[in-house]
Amino acid sequence: MIESLTTFKPVAATVALALMWLTEGLVPMFEGHRERVRHDASNVALGILNALVASLLFAGATLVATEWARANGFGLLHGIGVTGVWGFVLAFVLFDCWQYLWHRLNHRIPFLWRFHAVHHADRELSASSGLRFHTGEIVLSSIARLAVLPLIGMTVAQLLVYEAVLLPIILFHHGNVGVPRRADRWLRWLIVTPWMHWVHHSDYQPETDSNYSSVFSFWDRIFGSFRLVGDPRKLTLGLEDVERSDWATLPGMVAMPFRKRGGRRRDGGARADGGRERRRARGRRNAASGQPGPGR
Ligand SMILES: [Zn+2]
Repeated sequence: MIESLTTFKPVAATVALALMWLTEGLVPMFEGHRERVRHDASNVALGILNALVASLLFAGATLVATEWARANGFGLLHGIGVTGVWGFVLAFVLFDCWQYLWHRLNHRIPFLWRFHAVHHADRELSASSGLRFHTGEIVLSSIARLAVLPLIGMTVAQLLVYEAVLLPIILFHHGNVGVPRRADRWLRWLIVTPWMHWVHHSDYQPETDSNYSSVFSFWDRIFGSFRLVGDPRKLTLGLEDVERSDWATLPGMVAMPFRKRGGRRRDGGARADGGRERRRARGRRNAASGQPGPGR
């Protein structure tokens, strides 16, 4: 099972990404993305680099840690003896909760934010943005997982199932797809949707520091970080002080944590570098007012 899931993952990722890319071309939510191919190619290149680093450095260690926990009856799920389908369900929910907490820590702790800011520096969201994480963030989260997985008592098979579900949902909620408001509202009772996650990519700090969930949207409702805006197309995406050269290329993204932190705008007005005006000029729909949307 583990081998087939491992083989299935890159194939499923490629198919999901291709489908999202085609849909983004047909029914985009944000219009005016001029350099789709270059933007998406850079993000995908970083995603491939991360997949290689994670598998080379952490696949073996993850297997050892989870198998040790199982052999010794260590961890919550092994301790209470939950196996089979319920084992998969409980492991899935608990690990998704961990993902929420880890994401929140990435916003709270300055050292972690240095790396996570690379993800937030993307000013033109698309499905490929769901792959845009700094390799340092992947390494740090993989190290944390080596402790968390045994504590939960999660097996590698359960982790691979979680990742197989997580990936298409991540691509979907970063995607530049014009999901109808009503459909999004129904979907986000259970999972994280574009209308919910785009708020997280606003450059306005109270919005950036909200909607941390990965798969299930209810963590934000439970922990009080759920936030919506009236019209996400009015959001200014990205970070205040990150110029184009910092995010356009793979070397630029890799170097970014060592050069600057990536600021979140704390006031409700226009961005100092004129980002709001530039985006408006690119022809975003319904951006005529330039005023903060409801919920800010
Ligand atoms: Zn974030």
